[in-house]
Amino acid sequence: MTFTLAIVGRPNVGKSTLFNRLVGRKLALVDDQPGVTRDLREGDAKLFDLRFTVIDTAGLEEVTDDSLQGRMRRLTERAVEMADVCLFLIDGRVGVTPTDEVFADILRRKNAHVIVGVNKSEGKAGDAGAIEAWSLGLGDPIRLSAEHGEGMDDLYDILRPIG
Ligand code: GDP
Ligand code: MG
Repeated sequence: MTFTLAIVGRPNVGKSTLFNRLVGRKLALVDDQPGVTRDLREGDAKLFDLRFTVIDTAGLEEVTDDSLQGRMRRLTERAVEMADVCLFLIDGRVGVTPTDEVFADILRRKNAHVIVGVNKSEGKAGDAGAIEAWSLGLGDPIRLSAEHGEGMDDLYDILRPIG
């Protein structure tokens, strides 16, 4: 049986970078600049011997602060409804921000099956972020580096019983 994983979280935490790594193609755009990726993007993911569908939630990057909440809420809710499991990414070098808390609330309200991923955790960079991520109350965070491919074995261990 296969499943659908939605990668959610605020702009710039590395969702598209992870999507690209899982899909193995440059399907999602990655950019330092806001305003590049849009809406929801679906791809066929491969993680070792696991195959599943992955959704990248984009489309939040171009909105202004006052419309961010409504827009990200709708997009994230759509992704959650399509997904069996959500990978909620935060930036381990930044820690938990108020915007991350808003996403956590959306996921809680939706009763989503959530995995917390502390991205940008290559080396020791994510140590503080990983500790802070506990405060989200969404379970045991895993440390990832989408860019450097670290933590993919931990992600696999969590996803394998689902797939
Ligand atoms: P998104 O807005 O959540 O889709 O984030 P992107 O995937 O577009 O990445 C935003 C920025 O973070 C880009 O400059 C990426 O290169 C960078 N980035 C993504 N993953 C990592 C990571 O694991 N480590 C570091 N240091 N940077 C990363
Ligand atoms: Mg993106």
